[in-house]
Amino acid sequence: MKINGNNKRRKNTIIISILVLFLFSIGLISCTTINTKGKKSMYNAENGTTSNNSQKSMNNTKGAKDPNNLEKSTNNTEDTKALNNSEKSMDKAEDTKGPNNSANEDALNKTEDTAVPNNSDDFNPYKKDGRKVVYLTFDDGPSANNTPKILDILDQYNIKATFFLIGENAEQNEELVKEEAAQGNVVGNHTYSHDMNYIYSDPKVFMEDIYKCQSVLSSILGKNYNLKLVRFPGGSFGDRLKPFREELIENGYHYVDWNDLNGDAEHNNVSVENLIYTTKKYAIYDHLVVLMHDAPAKTTTVQALPAIIEYFKSQGYSFETLK
Ligand SMILES: [Zn+2]
Repeated sequence: MKINGNNKRRKNTIIISILVLFLFSIGLISCTTINTKGKKSMYNAENGTTSNNSQKSMNNTKGAKDPNNLEKSTNNTEDTKALNNSEKSMDKAEDTKGPNNSANEDALNKTEDTAVPNNSDDFNPYKKDGRKVVYLTFDDGPSANNTPKILDILDQYNIKATFFLIGENAEQNEELVKEEAAQGNVVGNHTYSHDMNYIYSDPKVFMEDIYKCQSVLSSILGKNYNLKLVRFPGGSFGDRLKPFREELIENGYHYVDWNDLNGDAEHNNVSVENLIYTTKKYAIYDHLVVLMHDAPAKTTTVQALPAIIEYFKSQGYSFETLK
């Protein structure tokens, strides 16, 4: 019995040992699994964090650039068609004395970021070449009262500018379009309607408006007129307009924004002094594309033009046209 009892105890001990070993090894395996999973989830977390961050920063950029900018541009702009619009923008405008205008600064900063890369290398007015070049640009014309005066001033100084015309206005002022071109200025496309709610509703609609303006310009300037140079109403800035920029490029056009401006889009009758001040303030690059407006209400733009031209001459800039 004793021997039997000892045997039984041994057997029990062995069985218990095996069980303990078994449980221990299960424990080890599950620990390893947890560890592996733990590590994996850490990697995931890191990846996740990284991508989230970059997404966030992209979104931030988008957020900062897109809606604000478009709205500002919209408020800012530049509408010739109706004094109604001008009045609206006058209501909105806090008399900004030009220089402290944040809308201007936003537009300018964004220009630096976005103006160039979306166009082909063949067209880069900002490309450094050791020269000082200024491109004077006039949007929204022609205007019966101001275009002839602008042309006279340009002629007096023997310089050329680039006019971005609204198709509707071109139709109503055919002779002025011809005079602009005959004097050696460049005529570009600023859409037919300049109706931003309409043209920016869809890239196809936008292109149709571009084509419509193009056919008006061709009908006035002749079939040899084939310049495919566009200025977006309100500027091309922001992610919201990305599909529109792409659509334009895909269809063989190119576009230009600006990196200097006289601030005449803020409201009508910005003082001559402020127009000159703003233009000088932002004239910090060797290659400048200057945004101005040729619209019925922009009479001070005409008055400020000689002093602005004199300033660029005094700073050693040569005057060229965009292509
Ligand atoms: Zn415009």
